[in-house]
Amino acid sequence: QLEAIAISRRFGDFQALEDISIGIEKGEFLTLLGPSGSGKSTFLNILAGFDAPSSGKLVQGGEDVTHRPAEQRNFGMVFQGYALFPHLTVAGNVSFPLRVRKVPSADRSRRVAQVLESVGLTAHADKLPRQLSGGQQQRVALARALVFSPDILLLDEPLSALDKTLREQLQIELQRIHREFRTTFVFVTHDQSEALALSSRVAIFNHGRLMQVGKPADVYTRPGSRFVAEFLGQVN
Ligand code: ATP
Ligand code: MG
Repeated sequence: QLEAIAISRRFGDFQALEDISIGIEKGEFLTLLGPSGSGKSTFLNILAGFDAPSSGKLVQGGEDVTHRPAEQRNFGMVFQGYALFPHLTVAGNVSFPLRVRKVPSADRSRRVAQVLESVGLTAHADKLPRQLSGGQQQRVALARALVFSPDILLLDEPLSALDKTLREQLQIELQRIHREFRTTFVFVTHDQSEALALSSRVAIFNHGRLMQVGKPADVYTRPGSRFVAEFLGQVN
């Protein structure tokens, strides 16, 4: 669905990403896993179109999309800090991307109601973000990213600000939403158990390099390097 080919990104003298090649498959739940500073967000921002690689390219449906602006990519994005519009209600936040896309008002309301229902926020539609808990705010961010049926949903550590109980609850919901919307997910985390529990595939980053890609069970039982073995907490 989206192919990253030999993506590198330097910031001055610092090589943040080096020669990353990976194909993102339609409908998969791909997790980018790696320690802090390993380049996960940098890579996600390049996929989203918020940043461009220093070299390498992105190909989608046979077309080179490396320099296509974010607005033209039809990807949804959820950030760690939610980034909701504080002055808009829950429904207003969720319908915002549809307004930007000039979707007619009746279709907008129907679609917003549908998505709010599936993230369990129907009762909170008219509240402002500050009247919601952290977990509820993160659901609004999720609903806002899903409302326009993105080709790919990019999630940068969406659960890391939440406490353990809430995080586990939202992990289960994320899996359900992934099944229900049949959208491709690219999910970033530095939490090994979260990655292994949620994903259909895990891509493990370290120091800007892609160390290994595979199904959770395969990378866990057959780590390809000492780093991966240690990082996944299984030292032989
Ligand atoms: P975390 O888990 O802490 O979010 P990450 O894996 O997402 O980490 P990145 O944010 O991708 O890491 O950063 C990778 C490296 O690139 C870091 O060393 C960071 O300091 C550096 N970096 C990222 N953005 C810039 C920038 N705009 N200018 C200079 N250096 C940057
Ligand atoms: Mg990051």
